[in-house]
Amino acid sequence: MKIICPKCKENAELTMDFTSVTCDSCGLDMSYGEYIKFVAHNEEKYSDILGDYTGSTEGQTAGSLDDWD
Ligand SMILES: [Zn+2]
Repeated sequence: MKIICPKCKENAELTMDFTSVTCDSCGLDMSYGEYIKFVAHNEEKYSDILGDYTGSTEGQTAGSLDDWD
C-alpha cells in the first residue's frame, strides 16, 4: 500500500505483508522495522522542538504570575 516516504515525502510502497518499504523517487529500501525506527527518530526531533516551545511558554506564564504578586 502507499505510504509517505520518510526521506523524500513522495509516495513509497509498503508491501502487503508489512515486511519492506520501498520508494522509487529516492531509492529508499528498508525493512518495515527500520522504517518505524526512522520515523520514530524523526518524530523525536519534532518532540524536542515542541518541548522547547512549551518550556519557554511556561516560563513566560510563570514570569507574569510573579508580576501579579
Ligand atoms: Zn523517497
